[in-house]
Amino acid sequence: RLDQHATGHHFLQIPGPSPVPDRILRAMSLPTIDHRGPEFGALGRRVLSGIREVFQTQHPVVIYPASGTGAWEAALVNTCSPGDPVLMFETGHFASLWQKMAARLGLETEVLSYQGADDQLPAAPGWRRGVQADLIEARLKQDTAHRIRAVCVVHNETSTGVTSDIAAVRRAIDAAGHPALLMVDSISGLASAEYRHDAWGVDVTVSGSQKGLMLPPGISFNALSPKALEASKTARLPKAFWAWDEIVAMNADGYWPYTPSTNLLYGLAEALDMLREEGLANVFARHQRWAAGVRAAVNAWGLPIQCADPAVYSPVLTGVITPPGVDADALRKLIHQRFDLSLGTGLGKLKGRMFRMGHLGDSNDLTLLAMVAGVEMGLKLAGIAIAGSGVHAAMDHFAAHPGAALTPL
Ligand code: PLP
Repeated sequence: RLDQHATGHHFLQIPGPSPVPDRILRAMSLPTIDHRGPEFGALGRRVLSGIREVFQTQHPVVIYPASGTGAWEAALVNTCSPGDPVLMFETGHFASLWQKMAARLGLETEVLSYQGADDQLPAAPGWRRGVQADLIEARLKQDTAHRIRAVCVVHNETSTGVTSDIAAVRRAIDAAGHPALLMVDSISGLASAEYRHDAWGVDVTVSGSQKGLMLPPGISFNALSPKALEASKTARLPKAFWAWDEIVAMNADGYWPYTPSTNLLYGLAEALDMLREEGLANVFARHQRWAAGVRAAVNAWGLPIQCADPAVYSPVLTGVITPPGVDADALRKLIHQRFDLSLGTGLGKLKGRMFRMGHLGDSNDLTLLAMVAGVEMGLKLAGIAIAGSGVHAAMDHFAAHPGAALTPL
């Protein structure tokens, strides 16, 4: 994998796919079974009920053998009709990709973007902050004919390291008295950042396996509300493979209308056990603590963090802007070649201007310190001036903020 002989684990510090715990890899190595047999039905029922706890919903969650992009499409084709207006908010690259998909499907997309001061960093200013719910409310109030079918927002923008306040978007829709569905991409937020499908009044939540759920890529999710299920009965965009009705009907007994991803579902069952054992509140606190440690390092280097609003820092990843004239991808390449460490690339408008440090999946304080050390060595080797030691800052942070105690021997 490298020009030199690589030893030890590769450091996969991109914001998904995240490092998969050995416990999950072992669970996935079991023999593949008959997907119409009784053993499979028990597995299906187990994961379909367990995954509801993670979305914090009482309602059905559909699992697709597809990447997150498939689940994006599923959310749109199940709820919308040709030409329906959908209101989106440009928080970053993934919000833009979802908008492009909606347009390709024949929807009339309207994109709101950040309104406020420009702060002179390379990134478009809107890519440094979360959704502004007041703009959504104002736009919905103008739509007195209630044509807008759905409001689509991204919970954790993986391209920037910025989260959005989903409960505030629900309040905005309600304050406007508008019937639009609320559809949320929490592909990289689920099971790392706090998320409440029912309490926040979300109609469809889209997610994927390869981030907070700590699984390999390959399965994705639509969590539904009764209102979304109702809408799917009359929505007229063509749908077959993605159609919720047949899947939800067969899921009642733990089966699917087609061949599901058996071994990924073994992994999901194990991931759900791990999340339940730790407790979701502890999982969220652990990611917040990791993120604060990594931000301490970035601040010590004196490099700007892409997220400009501390209220919405992502607990999942931190986007770091490189100084003017420094190609962030050349730095990433150097770090990969020298230290077998993968960092996330800058996407879309941020190409070459930033790198992303992932703090999710099978990690701990010391693996994150190794990531910080790899970046710091890379910065020095690339001749990039840093203000101080990020490694020391992160060590101090983790030492001063103990996480959950390990079980004593
Ligand atoms: N949305 C977000 C926020 C993502 O982070 C990603 C992938 O990184 C996607 C959508 C697309 O998902 P996938 O690459 O699994 O199709």
